[in-house]
Amino acid sequence: MLSIKKFTFNAFQENTYLLYDESKSAVIIDPGCSNATEERELINFIDNEGLTIVHLINTHCHVDHVLGLNFIADRFTIPAQFHELDLPVLEAVPNYATIYGFNVMPFSGKKKFLNEGDQVLFGSTTLDILFVPGHAPGHIVFVDHSEKIVIGGDVLFYSSIGRTDLPGGDHETLINSIKSKLFPLGDEYTVYPGHGPKTTIGFERINNPFLN
Ligand SMILES: [Zn+2]
Repeated sequence: MLSIKKFTFNAFQENTYLLYDESKSAVIIDPGCSNATEERELINFIDNEGLTIVHLINTHCHVDHVLGLNFIADRFTIPAQFHELDLPVLEAVPNYATIYGFNVMPFSGKKKFLNEGDQVLFGSTTLDILFVPGHAPGHIVFVDHSEKIVIGGDVLFYSSIGRTDLPGGDHETLINSIKSKLFPLGDEYTVYPGHGPKTTIGFERINNPFLN
């Protein structure tokens, strides 16, 4: 049985997810913790649950999703895993983060690149990867088919979609990613987005104003 813990971090109200199962193995997705208080909140939960962090994975590398990347990679001595096409996005973060009031160091840890078709394994859980560009050039999502859940980053939100006005963004590509990769998963799949509340494919297929 998969457990999903959501933290909402930093000025962008970004959702950082901690996934774990009965084995107590866990993955951290999109670590947005931006200060000591947020870092402590995440670490306290991990310690209290007795979790072992085995993977650090990112849907994409915009500033709000990587503010805790150095901290987590250092703390657990694990590589940051993301799609190679988002490497320039990550490398640009220290330059533009100052606009938003963040002082971000370049990522100094090890990197491992993920592609559609790869799987992220922990405990008895398998996460499949889909490539869904549009919001970011190397955006991927993580799907647990046995639980019918998607950790979706900034692609599909409750009654909204990811913005495409940032460098590397493209509206038509985003719409195509949602319709060709996410919708076919099935109406019963629950999407846990990078911002705001969770939703379902079925609800968005009918109600999302950007997709009708
Ligand atoms: Zn984003």
